[in-house]
Amino acid sequence: MTADTITKRCEAQGLRMTGQRRIIASVLEGADDHPDVDELYARAAAIDPRISIATVYRTVKLFEESGILERVDFGDGRARYEDAEREHHDHLIDVTTGDVVEFFDPEIEALQEKIARRLGYRLQGHRMELYAVPLKDTD
Ligand SMILES: [Zn+2]
Repeated sequence: MTADTITKRCEAQGLRMTGQRRIIASVLEGADDHPDVDELYARAAAIDPRISIATVYRTVKLFEESGILERVDFGDGRARYEDAEREHHDHLIDVTTGDVVEFFDPEIEALQEKIARRLGYRLQGHRMELYAVPLKDTD
């Protein structure tokens, strides 16, 4: 689980936390999905209508550069964000609906480490997205 809130980690990193940044941080803390900037802007502006999309864009960029957020890309060219401190997981994207399913598979994790070792490396991390359509009765 997350050790500290996004706001606390921002403060620990010495980021100046304005009121608007605090709102954006709290929206991110409350997100259990993978919002893009447009979605984050809609959620933040519902709390404070003075927030601009440019502010949201700059803030997530700053949080990403500070290692607080992780950017994920599900193949549609939109940058989405999730808390970088979340436990490691991979994503399956339903290409018919855009739904994202999170999963963790110890065999895949072990296999990737094995491959890296075979190639002479120690694995530091990986990112994997599966693109899929729902099974039909005939599959
Ligand atoms: Zn995720």
